[in-house]
Amino acid sequence: LKPSIWSTSVDNVSMDYALAKTRAAAVSGKGVSLVSTVNALAVMEAEKNSEYAAALRSSFLTLADGAGLVWALRFLGTPVQERVAGIDFMLRLTRTAAAEGLPVYLLGAKGEAVKGTAEALKEQYPDLVIAGWRDGYFNPSDPSVAADIRGSGAKVLFVAMGIPRQEVWVMKNSHLLGDMVAVGVGGAFDVVSG
Ligand code: UDP
Repeated sequence: LKPSIWSTSVDNVSMDYALAKTRAAAVSGKGVSLVSTVNALAVMEAEKNSEYAAALRSSFLTLADGAGLVWALRFLGTPVQERVAGIDFMLRLTRTAAAEGLPVYLLGAKGEAVKGTAEALKEQYPDLVIAGWRDGYFNPSDPSVAADIRGSGAKVLFVAMGIPRQEVWVMKNSHLLGDMVAVGVGGAFDVVSG
């Protein structure tokens, strides 16, 4: 039985398992593999936003971020192995990407924050290949953003535009993005750059 609340289901996976599965998808997956992280607010958003709910259903992995959600899943009798916070997952996946030469693209947040995130990650992981970065304030129906990301050769895309914007954007642009993993990381760039 998949851990679920209302119409949102999450994967009952550990951090290590989620990382291994995501790494495999980045190396040899076909199309866009969306990794979503959800908390209690996201569960409520999915009830009123059918596009976001569809993006969650289309996700390759849905991770339980947020102590409240993890508690509620346990209370409902479908616990998850552990909480997998989006920012922790981003940093672990970045380390893997650096070790394996998988190029990373950073999309989202204000210009200063995304640039600062690129610098901070590069400083922590000197082998990391940053395929490109761009702020998150663009017209979401402009197809050139996804085309640029595809052209960059990125295998891992971190999207930090907040829930539900980031997941909906990935879903609507997946046909333009090519073969890569896309991870919604909310406000993570503001934290990592800060
Ligand atoms: N953001 C963005 N584009 C937008 C709106 C927000 O890139 O059109 C970024 C914002 O700069 C921040 C992140 O998305 O880094 C999360 O934003 P917010 O705190 O509003 O969302 P939440 O954390 O509540 O999901």
